[in-house]
Amino acid sequence: MQGKTGQEVAASLRAHLEAAAVPHLVNFTAAKIQRSAEHAGWDVPNERATHTAHYVVIATGAKPRREGFVENDRVGIGPGVTTERLNVADKRVAILGGGDNAFDNAIFALRRGARSVDIYCRRAPRAQPILQREIAAQSVHVGPFQADQSRMTVNGTPHDIIGVQFGYEACIPGGLRLPLRDGYINVDRRGSVPEFPSLFAAGEVTNYWHPCVTTSYAHGVQVAKSIQSELLTVSSAVVSSQMDVPASLLASVA
Ligand SMILES: Cc1cc2nc3c(=O)[nH]c(=O)nc-3n(C[C@H](O)[C@H](O)[C@H](O)COP(=O)(O)OP(=O)(O)OC[C@H]3O[C@@H](n4cnc5c(N)ncnc54)[C@H](O)[C@@H]3O)c2cc1C
Repeated sequence: MQGKTGQEVAASLRAHLEAAAVPHLVNFTAAKIQRSAEHAGWDVPNERATHTAHYVVIATGAKPRREGFVENDRVGIGPGVTTERLNVADKRVAILGGGDNAFDNAIFALRRGARSVDIYCRRAPRAQPILQREIAAQSVHVGPFQADQSRMTVNGTPHDIIGVQFGYEACIPGGLRLPLRDGYINVDRRGSVPEFPSLFAAGEVTNYWHPCVTTSYAHGVQVAKSIQSELLTVSSAVVSSQMDVPASLLASVA
């Protein structure tokens, strides 16, 4: 959405839920998901409360890989505000990783006046050529490297700022051994988690193609339609089983 921050988009989605009187809860971290002992469906607890639902949709997205690094005023992990807040002016910057985000952040640091930017990647860079062209070849170091946050060195070379751009990993609440593909929840085309009845997953936490806001949103709609169709099947089965009740029994109920 043009001209709006992610936070503003999230706020307007929430306003939409409120306007439509959709029950919802914010600021609840799902520690785990487990089969409900008392109800058909699932319990979603944390240390404060437990919520129970017949259907659960996991839409917890992905987070940047840390690989032991800790964020502070000299180390940024992943793209976005975490790295943008670092003061790189006249600093020696090291970027770890070889994907689009690594090169994008290297270009961003140079534009913001970094004294030098070096990219360290274990394998040949995978970033789009249009991004790779912006960085001088001698600043891209391909091969195994040792990065030491406590000394702020990479392969023994000192740096003032380190940007960690190792890609993403799915945020999956604990409690269940879910089927994974490449570390993401493996769902069928309805968004259903195989072997886990009434458990669905949508968006970037799954193994779907090309994560972005639009595809995640559309995936959520598909999952909602899948659940709606299950509910309609169940309710029509209940109605037809009621219609099978013998007339004498219906008469005695009346
Ligand atoms: C810096 C950056 C820039 C991007 N720019 C764009 C762009 O311009 N255009 C675009 O289309 N896409 C962009 N993307 C990608 C886009 O943000 C994602 O693909 C999209 O947000 C995925 O949606 P999602 O709903 O699956 O997950 P998310 O938007 O990540 O939402 C998951 C939510 O679940 C919450 N959560 C995680 N674990 C738990 C838990 N255990 N309990 C409760 N809640 C939990 C998280 O806090 C988060 O609020 C960008 C991503 C980044 C990082």
